[in-house]
Amino acid sequence: MTVTVRFAPSPTGYLHVGNVRTALVNWLFVRKMGGQFLLRIDDTDTERSKDEYTDGIREDLTWLGISWDKEEHQSKRFDRYRLAAEKLRAQNRLYACYETPEELDVQRKMLASRGLPPIYNRASLKLTDEQKAKYEAEGRRPHYRFLLNDEEMTWNDLIRGTVAMRATTMSDPVLLREDGPDGQIRPVYTLASVVDDGELNISHVIRGEDHVSNSAVQIQLFKALGFAVPQFVHMALLKTKDGELSKRIGGNDIRMLRDAGILPMAVNSLLARIGTSDAVEAFSELTPLVEQFDFKRFGRAPANYDVAELEKLNEKLLHQLPFAAVKDKLPQVDEQFWLSVRANLKSLAEAQVWWEIVHGNITSGLPADDAAFVKSTIEHLPAAPWDEHTYDAWLAAVKPATNRKGKELFMPIRLALTGQSHGPELKKLLPLLGRDKVIERLSA
Ligand code: GLU
Repeated sequence: MTVTVRFAPSPTGYLHVGNVRTALVNWLFVRKMGGQFLLRIDDTDTERSKDEYTDGIREDLTWLGISWDKEEHQSKRFDRYRLAAEKLRAQNRLYACYETPEELDVQRKMLASRGLPPIYNRASLKLTDEQKAKYEAEGRRPHYRFLLNDEEMTWNDLIRGTVAMRATTMSDPVLLREDGPDGQIRPVYTLASVVDDGELNISHVIRGEDHVSNSAVQIQLFKALGFAVPQFVHMALLKTKDGELSKRIGGNDIRMLRDAGILPMAVNSLLARIGTSDAVEAFSELTPLVEQFDFKRFGRAPANYDVAELEKLNEKLLHQLPFAAVKDKLPQVDEQFWLSVRANLKSLAEAQVWWEIVHGNITSGLPADDAAFVKSTIEHLPAAPWDEHTYDAWLAAVKPATNRKGKELFMPIRLALTGQSHGPELKKLLPLLGRDKVIERLSA
């Protein structure tokens, strides 16, 4: 079987970590199996879909290293969906409904007050032609529902195992509705998704578990339209300490993480592994994640998404990042400098700060009595050229001469040379500063 998967975001906003996890899992699976990855833009909602978001989705996926083989837009396939709707009508599986949103809302509330689930009562299915004509004369426009067969929909989910759902627990889904200011009847996602998955030969539908009941309904649609039913895989959702992760919780947009200096592989490393039985580790490339990918490792409990964990992974990756990976982002910085400071950085932006500290002017944070001590260290400074061993040789000479040790010995030197109490190792900073600048700062 040829494996074809799709990632199907709606361009009504930017990608957030939940979407990206779905994209990444689809991608890792298809790259492992060998096959095609389709980027499907779900833009049937023409009011809320924006080109700016479609561009943003492409940009974010590219930044992450998630490549796609083909791209489709639902807004360009309305004809296909209308044709499918005709097929359903011919089978008496599509019926016109005239309830207004307000009427449906009242019905749902009445059911809820009796402790019943909000299942549509199929009142419109019983309408005679005269009643329909009367509604139309009143100016009501119909929407169309799919008549579910009363049968059990079952599938073997690669994460959830056997899933079984009865149609009697569900409403007949709306497939066509009046949409947009032009008053046109348009196909909605439920139908569009099945037509696309069927016609574009999607072998595996991998998405969040919020789509489980969609899958049940869609199985009947696949069958009614004569398509093979794809293999379904539903991932448990992500949650944060404060609850479920949704588009409404701000700060989880991928571009916000990027702007905050998070590396793409930190995002990938975390999202490939949370919610699985594998430990989260920092990976500097996607290849090992592809090789180790397996749906059997995914659990059914919600996966914990924690920004602090992302930051930790990011630091680990930053500390090993080769100069070539940062050169363009830090145009002033040279390789020797990068290799000397990277192990102590919390973010890429900090490298620039340390560049200024080494090459610019600093204000020493040194107390007056330490200033006298620091001056006396000048006479023990080794001769040039300096390397990583210079610092230890220097301190070995200063120690007996001044009778200081530990923090008392090194902290005044650090404060005099950098103006900071923390930072990259002094043994690495010393050669970057050079003898003249060190003498100048010690005597200031
Ligand atoms: N556009 C849908 C969503 O973002 C796609 C769901 C699916 O994968 O079928 O939820």
